Amino acid sequence: MATVTVHALGAGHLTIPERFFVTPFDPEAKTTVPSLSFLIQHKSINGKATRIVFDLGMRRDLKLYPEVLQGHLASRGPISTEPDVVASLAEGGLKQTDIDYVIFSHVHYDHVGFPKDFTSPQTKFLVGNGALDLLSGKTQLNLGKHMVFESDLLDPERTVELPQPDDASEKSDYSWKPLSLFPHAIDFFNDGSVYIINAPGHLPGHINLLCRISSNPTKFVCLAGDACHDIRLFRREKDIATWTDDEGRYCCIHVDIAQTKETLSRLYEASTEGLGLEGEKDKAQVEVIFAHDFAWEEQAKMDGRFWPGKL
Ligand SMILES: [Zn+2]
Repeated sequence: MATVTVHALGAGHLTIPERFFVTPFDPEAKTTVPSLSFLIQHKSINGKATRIVFDLGMRRDLKLYPEVLQGHLASRGPISTEPDVVASLAEGGLKQTDIDYVIFSHVHYDHVGFPKDFTSPQTKFLVGNGALDLLSGKTQLNLGKHMVFESDLLDPERTVELPQPDDASEKSDYSWKPLSLFPHAIDFFNDGSVYIINAPGHLPGHINLLCRISSNPTKFVCLAGDACHDIRLFRREKDIATWTDDEGRYCCIHVDIAQTKETLSRLYEASTEGLGLEGEKDKAQVEVIFAHDFAWEEQAKMDGRFWPGKL
């Protein structure tokens, strides 16, 4: 059975006030959370190695973010940006030039890092459908101060946007197919080791990465990005927050609450019931990992799940 190794990469921390994420909330509560990035390594039958980095986390120098974001960043402190993804890769002897694909769960500032560090012509950037219109400014979302995007974030020559999940006519190297309870999945290596999962709701183009892991091939980890920021939403102990900002504007961290809830309930079902796959007698286990899950980070550090840990 084709598998991959998955290691977490330290990529900074930020602090999120509870009131913007869950309801009911404690108006004073804040949590410093990681913005996790992951290294996925695949070997084909003929021995060819392919390395993916999923999300680049926080930018190593906050001054490298656009000025319009600075006010928002001030409300997210304490922030740490070291080590960033590049330094984390180096801890295990890897350079940016060793990376074949950088796949983004979505293009919010705390996930895009600094793609300009990845200068190799071999490195491709992959984003979900709708992400490029956000970056270019064609799609405008007026839902909060964190909605700042950069038109020059990605080198267009090396960037691929996935096709629309519902449009089979679109020409692309990638094609969406149903996978168990997920209506839209892309078998990335065509060997069942890594699937890109469409995970709509948080931001246009929000995608997850489902990886069958070498240490236990009956198990997948699902790198779930910002499907939620607070594990209590996943566990159905809280609801999604909305608020009105100082300009009287309606705000929510998620662009589409109904879709976010649907995505979360599919992930919840996968994690509690497992994933029934064609040709496999037993359901595969799924561990769902959210980018900002501080408790997961703590445990994973102890378990050696950070690069270049033992695994
Ligand atoms: Zn985030």
